Amino acid sequence: MERVEPRPFPPGDYDVVVVGSGPGGLQAAYSLARTGIPRVAVISRDPAPGGMFRRFPVFQRLISWTKPDAPFERGTREYEWYDHNSLVGDEREHQALTPEFMDRTFDVPARSEMEAALVEFAARGGVRVRYGCEWLSTRRDEAGFVLGTSDGEYRCRIGVFAIGVTEPWFAPIPGLEAAPHYVATNAPDRYQGKSVFIVGKRNSGFELAQGLLPWARRIVLGSPRPVDTATLAFSPLSIRYLSPYTEHVRGGTGSHVVDAAIERVERHADGYRIHARGTTWEGELALDADEVIAATGFRAPVRDLPNLGVALVNDNRMPALSPYWESVSVPGIYFAGNLMQASPGLRKHGATSSSSSVVGFRYNTRLLAQHIAEKHFGLERERPSLDGDEVIPHLLAELAHAPELWTQKGYLARVVGVDGTDGIRDQGIVPLADFVDRDGVDACAVAVEYDVDGTVVPVVYVRRGGRLVETSLPPHPMHSFGTDEHRRQLAACVAPLLSRRASRV
Ligand SMILES: Cc1cc2nc3c(=O)[nH]c(=O)nc-3n(C[C@H](O)[C@H](O)[C@H](O)COP(=O)(O)OP(=O)(O)OC[C@H]3O[C@@H](n4cnc5c(N)ncnc54)[C@H](O)[C@@H]3O)c2cc1C
Repeated sequence: MERVEPRPFPPGDYDVVVVGSGPGGLQAAYSLARTGIPRVAVISRDPAPGGMFRRFPVFQRLISWTKPDAPFERGTREYEWYDHNSLVGDEREHQALTPEFMDRTFDVPARSEMEAALVEFAARGGVRVRYGCEWLSTRRDEAGFVLGTSDGEYRCRIGVFAIGVTEPWFAPIPGLEAAPHYVATNAPDRYQGKSVFIVGKRNSGFELAQGLLPWARRIVLGSPRPVDTATLAFSPLSIRYLSPYTEHVRGGTGSHVVDAAIERVERHADGYRIHARGTTWEGELALDADEVIAATGFRAPVRDLPNLGVALVNDNRMPALSPYWESVSVPGIYFAGNLMQASPGLRKHGATSSSSSVVGFRYNTRLLAQHIAEKHFGLERERPSLDGDEVIPHLLAELAHAPELWTQKGYLARVVGVDGTDGIRDQGIVPLADFVDRDGVDACAVAVEYDVDGTVVPVVYVRRGGRLVETSLPPHPMHSFGTDEHRRQLAACVAPLLSRRASRV
């Protein structure tokens, strides 16, 4: 007789409750389980692992790359930079799972391949989730929080919400609500021979336009702000969805990308009329279309968290977060996964983090687990000690190959602390915004960043006696940051820290 596994994590008392089983929830569950926090429950309203990737992107291709063959062997830390879609594990068999499922017709996985890799990660990594359990409400009690769910009440000290950002958000345009949102888009063949107006020119708008190219008669993308080609060059969007834009720029063969404020959308018996006013040009447009799709973005399904005091930002679409992804207004409520993008980091020269994609938030989420374990449960992570002559080679190696630094440019940093009594210690990877604001022990942080021209450069931050000095090291045409010149300049930056220690010991 088949044995039926009882569902894990029944309602009751826990130290931490994680909500969600998308990549953010799975990474959080995996990493928290390895911190030593005794009672961690994971719940999700889905029936199986995968989260958003169980149904999106609607046109079934991701924008983030995975290179099945790379200069480093799969499963190594260095390989992670070549595989932007696998979750990160502590053991070889939990690592680099996405390339195992790719049929190599593209360098970006199909949605189904991504979903399969996430299911495999949960299985191999022993990630247990109480599926079919929906979080419905939240309140405080003396020990922390009480999460009301479809299965009963969960009491916890810490809540980690990995609930994604996929609830439809409509721009306030009169009449737009009559049109379907991205999440309700039909199969592409339903648009055969039709004229389609897409409101929005960001990832989801371009994804739809690209997916409809083989089907639609005419596609128009419209929104007030022009496409920023300089920013786009650094965006994963440029890898996949730009044909509609290049068609438009080269004179148009049925694709148009229009800078216009959409003033209203009228629904008629046989289609729509869109009224728009130019933003980068003078004048008005009235366009007829068979179909309109609102690709105006998403919001987080935060339910009643604002009533608990969780402050929201960005048109109330996301929670306001600290550098360690904690609500700025309700301590003990953390966010993992895609929502980590709400903690913006330093944004030097306008550069954004990769926290909205798996490649960025997998590292944030691992740090979050360590941070929760230390701050709330006193479970200190290991901080290996280093000899003075190991510091420069260690930092240079990190600048050359650390996947955390390369994917989260200017957002995550490697830190070495120098303390008169405790010696030199590798403090691990930390959010750079936290490091520069913290008045801690003397320390050095290194990060990989874009400079003002968009060139990738190594940057060194030295904090000494509460004062912070920042130095950019030279770029390199092959991004090789281990040259003699880099070694020399890095050593010069760090020398005052190491010599001060020597004089104190
Ligand atoms: C159209 C689109 C395309 C994208 N393409 C890519 C891409 O190619 N590559 C990439 O890296 N990123 C991509 N992203 C970003 C993407 O959202 C994330 O990479 C990833 O899916 C987010 O993971 P997550 O775990 O944070 O959220 P999700 O995958 O959205 O998972 C949220 C989880 O929370 C659960 N949940 C929510 N509310 C409740 C509740 N009340 N009770 C219980 N459970 C709940 C859901 O059921 C789900 O399990 C894309 C996003 C969009 C919108």
